[in-house]
Amino acid sequence: MNIVVLSGKGGTGKTTISVNLANIAGSDIALLDCDVEEPNSHLFCNNEFTSYEDVGALYPVIAEDICIHCGKCGSFCNFSAILCTKKMNIVMPEMCHDCGGCSLVCPVDAISYETRTIGHIRRGLFNQEQQFIDGILNIGEFSSTKIIEKVLSQGLDAKHRIIDAPPGSACAAVETVEGADLALIVTEPTPFALSDMKMVVEMLENMKIPAAVFINKSGADETELLEYCKAKELKVVGRLPFFKEYGEVYAKGGLLSSEFPEVNKLFVTLWRDLVNEA
Ligand code: SF4
Ligand code: SF4
Repeated sequence: MNIVVLSGKGGTGKTTISVNLANIAGSDIALLDCDVEEPNSHLFCNNEFTSYEDVGALYPVIAEDICIHCGKCGSFCNFSAILCTKKMNIVMPEMCHDCGGCSLVCPVDAISYETRTIGHIRRGLFNQEQQFIDGILNIGEFSSTKIIEKVLSQGLDAKHRIIDAPPGSACAAVETVEGADLALIVTEPTPFALSDMKMVVEMLENMKIPAAVFINKSGADETELLEYCKAKELKVVGRLPFFKEYGEVYAKGGLLSSEFPEVNKLFVTLWRDLVNEA
């Protein structure tokens, strides 16, 4: 079973929820961190990484001696990775999303592809026994989907996979959520968080992924949030209140479910509900 933990914006607490779920979910799980622009699940991992693997992506190379400068490849590319002029073409590999489309529209077969490294994945253990994999996108790169694909290809032999998604509802989040059995949306009882959450809910509705909601830093007025959840038939499966002591443990890389019995109980119940829900 694949449970993806996501949120409408960064800093909502999805990593807290992911790592604490992994902490109580037993040994036959894999924790995957797909937030490849800013992975931080490893900060709670307490283990060394045991292997690294580069991830490559293709980018176009244009044979200028064959090119007839029709400009079709530049017009086709949705990511502005090729700039065509009447005399030459400029390719920006870091903008390329490796879709392969530009060579298909070239009338004279002037485009071939080469590979370059855009980041890497790391493998290790979480809690000494569970599989842990994350990905890191190199600074300056624009497309994270190849790294996310590589992370998502890991840990398939585990009974359950807990997947920490990139925040938001853009390509990277869509790529991560694809194929999930259940999405756990982490939000806060604030107007901003609700606004961002609505975009995530829309994305999940379009993808037909079942979802549930976890309210982090609970304690403020939840009326608007709960009304929205009710209207969307989204079940609220848990709440973690905002306490200074929790923040102190988190800041030191500690696991709340190991330090506080009431949080441990909360995550045990949450895990049981999620497994039953999916
Ligand atoms: S492969 Fe796709 S994304 Fe890359 S330059 Fe060609 S059209 Fe653009
Ligand atoms: S589509 Fe082919 S021929 Fe046209 S500008 Fe691009 S590389 Fe040159």
